[in-house]
This record gives sequence, structure tokens and C-alpha cells, in this order.
Amino acid sequence: MKIDAFLKNDWRYQGQDKYLYGKKLFFKDFTCVGREHDHCEFCWKKFGHESENLKKGYSTEDNYHWICQECVIDFLKYFKWELL
Ligand SMILES: [Zn+2]
Repeated sequence: MKIDAFLKNDWRYQGQDKYLYGKKLFFKDFTCVGREHDHCEFCWKKFGHESENLKKGYSTEDNYHWICQECVIDFLKYFKWELL
């Protein structure tokens, strides 16, 4: 993937394209895989079951990686996700 100025200057970008580039992302209620909570892969906002946590977001098919809606919007054009 070509890294452009936006990604270089955004603190949330930490090389996630290595495992997230071009993936299918599913918009759904947060469910965890053997964990109490999870964090957005980009901004580290917390997904979980407490009132202040995010309850919906985008995840990979295996529910392993979660991304909040804001980060999906910001990074979509670089990561070429297929949103389902
Ligand atoms: Zn985020």
C-alpha cells in the first residue's frame, strides 16, 4: 500500500495495513472472543459492555479486530475495505 501524507501524519496509523488492508468488515454489535472488551484498532476507543463503551462497530469476520465508525470513515479510502 502506498502510504500518503495523511497516514504518515495521523497518530492512529501504526501499520495496520499489514493485517487489515482490503478486508471485509462487518458492521455489528460488539461481541468478544474470549475477552471482556476490545479496542478500536486505530484510536483505541474501548468496545465493551459498560455504559460508556462503544456497542457497535466494524469487525473482521472472526471478530478479532474491531474498528470504530469514525476510524472506518477516516481510513476507508486507504484500506479499501469492503463494508458489509
Ligand atoms: Zn477508532
